[in-house]
Amino acid sequence: MNRPSPSGKRVRVILLTQVIGPLDYRLPDWMDADVGSVVVVPLGPRKMVGVIWDEGVFGDEAVEEHRLRNVLEVIDVPPIKRGLRRLVDWVADYYLSNHAAVLRMVISSSAALSAGGTVTEYRPSGIEPARLTPQRAAALDSLVDAQGLVRELAEQAGVSEGVIRGLVKAGALEPVMVSIDAPFAAPEPDHDHPELSDLQEAAAKVMRDAVRSGGFEPMVLDGVTGSGKTETYFEAVAEALKIGKQVLVLLPEIALTQPFLQRFEARFGVEPATWHSGMKQSQRRRVWRGVAEGRAQVVAGARSALFLPFANPGLIVVDEAHEISFKQEDGVRYHARDVAVMRGKFEGFPVVLASATPALESRHMVSIGRYKGLEIPSRFGAAKLPRIEAIDLTQDQPERGTWIAPTLLKALEERLERGEQSLLFLNRRGYAPLTLCRNCGHRFECPNCTAWMVEHRLVRRLACHHCGHVMPPPDKCPECSAEDSLVPCGPGVERISDEVKRFFPEARTIVATSDTLWSPEKAAEFVALVENKAVDIIIGTQLVTKGYHFPELTLVGIIDADLGLEGGDLRAAERTFQQIAQAAGRAGRADKPGEVYIQTRNPSHPVIAALVGGDRDGFYDAETEQRRRAGAPPFGRFAAIIISSEDEREAIETARAVGGSAPQVDGMHVYGPAPAPLAMLRGRHRQRLLVHALRSVELQSIMREWLGGLEFPRSVRVGVDVDPYSF
Ligand code: ADP
Ligand code: ZN
Repeated sequence: MNRPSPSGKRVRVILLTQVIGPLDYRLPDWMDADVGSVVVVPLGPRKMVGVIWDEGVFGDEAVEEHRLRNVLEVIDVPPIKRGLRRLVDWVADYYLSNHAAVLRMVISSSAALSAGGTVTEYRPSGIEPARLTPQRAAALDSLVDAQGLVRELAEQAGVSEGVIRGLVKAGALEPVMVSIDAPFAAPEPDHDHPELSDLQEAAAKVMRDAVRSGGFEPMVLDGVTGSGKTETYFEAVAEALKIGKQVLVLLPEIALTQPFLQRFEARFGVEPATWHSGMKQSQRRRVWRGVAEGRAQVVAGARSALFLPFANPGLIVVDEAHEISFKQEDGVRYHARDVAVMRGKFEGFPVVLASATPALESRHMVSIGRYKGLEIPSRFGAAKLPRIEAIDLTQDQPERGTWIAPTLLKALEERLERGEQSLLFLNRRGYAPLTLCRNCGHRFECPNCTAWMVEHRLVRRLACHHCGHVMPPPDKCPECSAEDSLVPCGPGVERISDEVKRFFPEARTIVATSDTLWSPEKAAEFVALVENKAVDIIIGTQLVTKGYHFPELTLVGIIDADLGLEGGDLRAAERTFQQIAQAAGRAGRADKPGEVYIQTRNPSHPVIAALVGGDRDGFYDAETEQRRRAGAPPFGRFAAIIISSEDEREAIETARAVGGSAPQVDGMHVYGPAPAPLAMLRGRHRQRLLVHALRSVELQSIMREWLGGLEFPRSVRVGVDVDPYSF
């Protein structure tokens, strides 16, 4: 389709930093580039980075031949391959997002723009020059622990490159030579090969075969907690290594990275490469290039690793695939589990979704034959699934002002006597979810969000869990000025920890939440403390319910099973079931039997009954049936349109106008606008329209046309969330 031209061919380029485009350019004949190449092109007076997405002529809107501008430069990185380009197209299309935003997830600018070989990076030298301009001083402050190219440090500090160069000259930043091509240690497929049980082997064989034969094959590895899913999918990883393919393992939390790395090393002799938001730019660059050149064979990472440019991918494993954290909630709102499957489809390799509590959608795909189901129905070795019992809080009441029922207290006491460990699960960070004034009833609310300020007693402050706003705990009520009148309402993990200490002063406790385990190192410390038996009772949020394997942990107490069932959003039941089942799954994973107590005011609720009766399938079937009747996912689809403004009136009026312009389509219905679940967030008022559609409706193209035809005031932001997680 190339129209011959005297000096080169026409290419279509998607720019990384621009919402406009794609734009056409001329690729001069002498330039060695191809579709997928990362290039520098002119845009007005500026130079921009982009990727050649296509070649040829594109209909009437094509720029006339003589007005085409030349591609200026080809950047020395491996071109973005066809499968990944198709994935970018799909994500942009499906999630109604723009190409540039998706492409930026593939080419984090820093990683792509640097050449191979050795580069000079800079890091704080520790020398603080006597006289620094306030701007330089502020920049230096924001670069503690940083290391990167001048451009990257400027980006990170939000200053110009000149400011960074000034700091280098002043000696505050020192150069470090970094070899980007430093090799990655090669995992050995047979380093320490465990003997699999028959059940494990059966599942492993299917996965190995799928990896060996290549080709797209989505699979759900559905094994009860403690069944050895990791050991089992490691066999598929080993197979990929043997045939020279790369592997990506997606993990739901940074906190799980460290234990995973250790297990991986024990099995394969070396740690895999990692990819997550906490990495330094220099590490990122090295991993990005290593992945693109096929030198990094296995990557363990957060959802963003999905967009790494693997040279030769042969397998993706999504571990704890039911986890909510795989859903990205800002920027490009995608679900990593679904995108992983699409990547396998476009590039032709198997994708394993591993979980003890698969997402209802995944289970449905197995039942209709679209995904292959692999089951490991019992725990590995001698370990048995724990005994689960409900505590009816209306009968077995905790002492006034406390939250642990007598039965659970007794069970904790027994564990302490036997030197075994316990886990108390409550999905609420901080000390108390709400603080109010006893005198006037004033409640502490975030000034920026529709949310209570949560007391965090350990760090002595009140915090908003949505925008991060913090304040010191006031000593008197700001409303009525009464002193000592503020009372915490309800429990958070810190308060449960206090309660435990009151009942068992000798017990060694640890609070485990994202506040305390915020880095891989902190998480590793936590694991070591528990493994070394320096802890008797863990009090934690959902963060500690997944993945961890603590052999001495024999008791799990669910403080408030009703918490997640309130509010009644679509996935409340499924999510609560998963959370409690995962928490329960930490008990009795080795030779000592486990016991689980679920505190509830409603023991006959279907979720609780299913957990106690061990009837997972019955629960999923009933839930699936309800979704079918409601036309909810996976039988129908939703998309949310969030319209926000600092001005409430403007948000409401814009949302009404959007709703009013909705096209009439059979099988599609638009609800709202109504205040979004967080009606105010970070100072912006949020209105929501909810679009419901049958599967047969071409939702994306309808919405693109509908929303694309509207104009919005600059002060209004419009975000679309296709397949929103909760509503
Ligand atoms: P899951 O992820 O399914 O909850 P894990 O993979 O954490 O289970 O396995 C539970 C424990 O059993 C781990 O300590 C693991 O090392 C051990 N294990 C599982 N399978 C085997 C095996 N085949 N040989 C030896 N140990 C195993
Ligand atoms: Zn807030």
